[in-house]
Amino acid sequence: MSNLSSVITYDNEFFWDATKNKKLVFQKCKKCGHVIWPPSNICPICYSTDITTITSKGKGKVYSFGVFRVPFHESVKENIPYILAVVELEEGPMVVSNIANYSAENLKCGCEVKLIWETKEDFSIFKFEPV
Ligand SMILES: [Zn+2]
Repeated sequence: MSNLSSVITYDNEFFWDATKNKKLVFQKCKKCGHVIWPPSNICPICYSTDITTITSKGKGKVYSFGVFRVPFHESVKENIPYILAVVELEEGPMVVSNIANYSAENLKCGCEVKLIWETKEDFSIFKFEPV
């Protein structure tokens, strides 16, 4: 059992199930069209519970980022330095993830990125890399 099992709830189980198939999915309000993130059983804009699920194209831009040069936990020690970024997806949600396969010195806010997957034990983690 992975550490991920501790964060899976009834409300976000659909999201983690989709990651097993390397799909990044979000909820979309059928009433107002708002793409909901983080997962919720109610639209935060219009309070509708009429919600569907969409699959992200995996394209977005770096909104903000930080470079970690000191490990805050033993489990990330071998990844130093790594980039943690807020990525604004074309569908609207802003997600926090890693930027892989890129030098931190060359990364800029607004840089276009695409979705990639890293498989761990029994689940997959979404990350991004520059286009
Ligand atoms: Zn809505």
